[in-house]
Amino acid sequence: MNKITIAIDGHSSCGKSTMARDLASRLGYVYVDSGAMYRAVTLYALRGGIAHDGQIDEPRLRDALPDISISFIFNPTTQRPDTYLNGELVEREIRSLQVSSCVSPVAALPFVRSAMVEQQRLMGEKGGIVMDGRDIGTTVFPNAELKVFVTASAEVRARRRYLELTAKGQQCDFADILRNVQERDYIDSHREVSPLRPAPDAVLLDNSDMTPAGQLEWLLHQVELKTNV
Ligand code: C5P
Repeated sequence: MNKITIAIDGHSSCGKSTMARDLASRLGYVYVDSGAMYRAVTLYALRGGIAHDGQIDEPRLRDALPDISISFIFNPTTQRPDTYLNGELVEREIRSLQVSSCVSPVAALPFVRSAMVEQQRLMGEKGGIVMDGRDIGTTVFPNAELKVFVTASAEVRARRRYLELTAKGQQCDFADILRNVQERDYIDSHREVSPLRPAPDAVLLDNSDMTPAGQLEWLLHQVELKTNV
């Protein structure tokens, strides 16, 4: 069977990564979490004082970009790729609320986007990839055979994020998370370059009331429809 390219886009915290990872593992495809790349750039900027108090020093970030190397290494214990920033494992730090609060303004910068999109296209040039993000079906892989656009209510998404962070032992407040989810939706949908929106040929999925197993079945069916033509 021909290996296709699958783009999964949608709002923040609607479980895209979990469904993309599960789908990739069922199909034997590569899985790439494009949001982790924007998060790693943000972590670098925060650590270096390039971003602080909601301000980003754009010229410094532009100059620093060639020094930011992001890679993924599959972790057999968690069955998902871990994110490395310049060789350091940063999987946990990039998921913190501090990074979440700063990532959307960083990801809205055109020079950050063009650098990430270039790397993402290289990762997917051979097909057999599931990539999740905000602009995968519209910008990164506009010719992807299957495009899915996922959403769920902001409350459902914030609840999932809250449970995920507390399960990892991180202290957090539900109201802060809900605010962060809503702010990221707003910035992601209103930025000038590659705003978050469904590609015209995307299949829509509202997973507010779906279980992960139900989602995976739904996705496998969508893949079947695209590969059995
Ligand atoms: O997917 P995740 O929520 O981890 O992504 C973090 C942030 O990175 C998003 O809120 C969005 O601002 C940005 N992002 C993006 N384009 C992508 C993936 C993520 O702008 N393809």
